Amino acid sequence: MATGEFNLINKFFLSPSTRKEVSLGIGDDCAIVSVPEGKQLAITADTLVDGVHFPSNTSPQDIACKAIAVNLSDLAAMGAEPAWLTLALTLPRVDESWLESFSDSFRKTAEKYNVQLIGGDTTQGPLSITVQAMGFAGPDNIMRRDGARPGDVIYVSGTLGDAAAGLRILQRGQAIDANNAWLVDRLNRPEPRVDLGLKVSAYCKCAIDISDGLAADLGHILEASDCGATVNIDRIPLSHQLVEYSVNRNEVDWEMVLSGGDDYELCLVVAPDNENKLMQIASEISLPLTRVGTIEEHTALNIVDETGAKYLLDRSGYEHFIK
Ligand code: ADP
Ligand code: MG
Repeated sequence: MATGEFNLINKFFLSPSTRKEVSLGIGDDCAIVSVPEGKQLAITADTLVDGVHFPSNTSPQDIACKAIAVNLSDLAAMGAEPAWLTLALTLPRVDESWLESFSDSFRKTAEKYNVQLIGGDTTQGPLSITVQAMGFAGPDNIMRRDGARPGDVIYVSGTLGDAAAGLRILQRGQAIDANNAWLVDRLNRPEPRVDLGLKVSAYCKCAIDISDGLAADLGHILEASDCGATVNIDRIPLSHQLVEYSVNRNEVDWEMVLSGGDDYELCLVVAPDNENKLMQIASEISLPLTRVGTIEEHTALNIVDETGAKYLLDRSGYEHFIK
């Protein structure tokens, strides 16, 4: 954006340095930073496009919060400590009140996770927000997608399906009572599991964040690790809000829970020897971890119920258990 770009950046995005590794932040051609000794740099970027990654009437506060959260979730899934952000912002026009709300929420969210905005770019065009997040990873404590082995057990954090239910509530124009508001919040203000990722990375060799649904994301682990898994659908953790939205547990739309996106919980794969350690960490940080399945030798993802009956997952329809 030609005129006013510098004013705009100074007004909305310039703030005092909060991290000691940053020698030069916003304002020059590049930021200058250093990586602590013995650490490696973990880098990720995600773009949110208006109408594609968020409904067009999403508030600027929620967009800013989500743009940071989805990136920190990727760092969490590697076991990395978040440090810096860059922000590439494409705006249809300079709307000061939108920018005020966006930048305020961006600053607060960055503060919450102790990350510093160190640069970016500002251009004119259809609304799109790209955040790049950088963090520090241990060289020996990196959780990779190819780290799963037959015999390992599969855990997920928090509850699944809430964000997909939130999206459905908005798309169907359903009433936003307290229960539904909580589900919509799970869509718009996801909480990246940064603490969990950092703490478990000493005991866990394999993780992914659940951004496209457990079935797809666990599928990435199985492909990279060249193995299969059995997941017990009756063990999938559900929030009481999702159960209430669905009327009762028997009416839950499993398609939505397993293939709906935007949960930003972590899926962790650990050797059975480390399960106790995992449970200890979960109680330290007061975040439930639920064992949902096991890694196996074959290369399929089998979803079964408590009786062992198979469930066929099909994004396009409402499948039932095959007895
Ligand atoms: P250049 O033309 O050298 O790329 P810019 O005018 O794009 O410089 O940016 C000037 C400074 O402001 C740079 O330090 C850049 O990183 C920073 N910056 C630009 N846009 C943003 C933004 N949306 N958020 C944070 N920093 C930004
Ligand atoms: Mg630039």
